[in-house]
Amino acid sequence: MAELLKLEVVTPEQYVISEDVEIVMAPGTLGEFGVLSGHTPFLTSLKPGRINYKDSTGKEKIIFVSGGFSEALPDRVTVLAESAERRRDIDLDRARAALERAQKRLAQEKSDNISFERAKIAMYRAIERIKIAETRGL
Ligand code: ATP
Repeated sequence: MAELLKLEVVTPEQYVISEDVEIVMAPGTLGEFGVLSGHTPFLTSLKPGRINYKDSTGKEKIIFVSGGFSEALPDRVTVLAESAERRRDIDLDRARAALERAQKRLAQEKSDNISFERAKIAMYRAIERIKIAETRGL
């Protein structure tokens, strides 16, 4: 059996998970990265996206993260996220409503650059949540 490492995902509001896992894939701002037990230590920022991991039974799971930081050590990965939800905790209707709001804001011609960028990122968060929530079997 593969050596395990501890994955911890924390937000300012809650401890999302603390689990022994075989492998973690996460959305680094410089690109997606994977961590196995024994990895060289590194620190990176995260963009909105999905953390994929395999738990100690080999089951694949997904967590949405809206961005933050990740520290990898040989025996653990810690993710400090702005917000994060396990796939089964994502409220699909809420994400669809957020997508609709963001699309309306993007369509407003009078939006300045900052509100346009914020709406774009909100739309991206909503799309990722919807895609993850609609993933079956994980
Ligand atoms: P919304 O406009 O619906 O609040 P958002 O992308 O602005 O969406 P965030 O700022 O990323 O939301 O998160 C705020 C809080 O709401 C966090 O605790 C996050 O986990 C939770 N949250 C946001 N959207 C969802 C969702 N679709 N399902 C479950 N929790 C959500």
